[in-house]
Amino acid sequence: MQTVKLSNGVTMPLEGFGVFQVTDGEVCRRTVQTALGAGYRLIDTASSYQNEQAVGAAIRAAGVPREELFVTTKAYIHQMGYEKTKAAFAESLQKLGLDYLDLYLIHMPFGDYYGAWRAMEELYQTGKVRAIGVCNFDAARLMDLCWNADIQPMVNQIERHPHFQREEELRIMAELGVQPQAWAPFAEGMHGMFTDPVLTSIAHKHGKSVAQVILRWDIQRGVAVIPKSVHRERLEENLDVWDFMLDMDDLVQIAALDRGQPSMLDPHRPSEVRRVYDYLRNPVLTSL
Ligand code: NAP
Repeated sequence: MQTVKLSNGVTMPLEGFGVFQVTDGEVCRRTVQTALGAGYRLIDTASSYQNEQAVGAAIRAAGVPREELFVTTKAYIHQMGYEKTKAAFAESLQKLGLDYLDLYLIHMPFGDYYGAWRAMEELYQTGKVRAIGVCNFDAARLMDLCWNADIQPMVNQIERHPHFQREEELRIMAELGVQPQAWAPFAEGMHGMFTDPVLTSIAHKHGKSVAQVILRWDIQRGVAVIPKSVHRERLEENLDVWDFMLDMDDLVQIAALDRGQPSMLDPHRPSEVRRVYDYLRNPVLTSL
């Protein structure tokens, strides 16, 4: 497993395991334990996924030394603001059964995220969390936060996949020293991602699967990935991406698949903002 050094010197695995939409506690516990057994060391959860307790149980059952793990969770919109974020952090830590976190993220660029950031800076300074960052910040919002923060965000977790490549934003993140981490690296299979003819032919050429080609494409670009699967064979397949290289021809073909539009979440659209706030009133996890 390759790692990347964040701007504060903390080492983060380039590939991790995401648990969005794994809401059944027993399935989540079993799957995370399987993932840890398969070799994943980074687990990505969030308070809004409602599975932090199951993730914590899996971590305890797996018996992997704590210092080998990299555990990420996130504060959701209703947890934005200095006091609320401090309380949210304590609650997440308690649910996970951990005494420190590796990465704490602002989940969405909505609400009082500046207040939240002050809380996260303090949590970082007191050693309760080894790295702090954001999710779904476009380059302009990220730059604004960087200008106004005492401690710079170390990670920005964003929607990125072959249909939404965000090269210009990646360049700005590199300038700012913020490590990108791709969520929904497969766009959850939307728009025929797993059967795309270009990706399929590249996969055949390398004797790999489309999923593996996509993850390799991110990793070669220096973008961390957190694919999710509740199936053992798939989560093992997703981890088997370290023994091949995409060549320039592959990369040029994949670059042409960019549609320049998100498939999953567009924080700039009022309808999306409404959907996110509706979620708070009526949580339907599959819609976020
Ligand atoms: P994803 O990883 O792009 O796709 C997951 C889907 O692909 C699942 O339906 C899974 O099915 C399937 N799949 C996985 N591996 C496969 C393979 N090798 N072959 C065929 N199908 C495969 O989507 P995601 O779960 O939305 O994103 C990944 C993680 O990113 C999440 O779990 C979460 O931790 C994080 N995330 C963060 C945000 C944010 O706002 N910060 C938003 C969304 C997600 P099965 O499970 O049935 O195998």
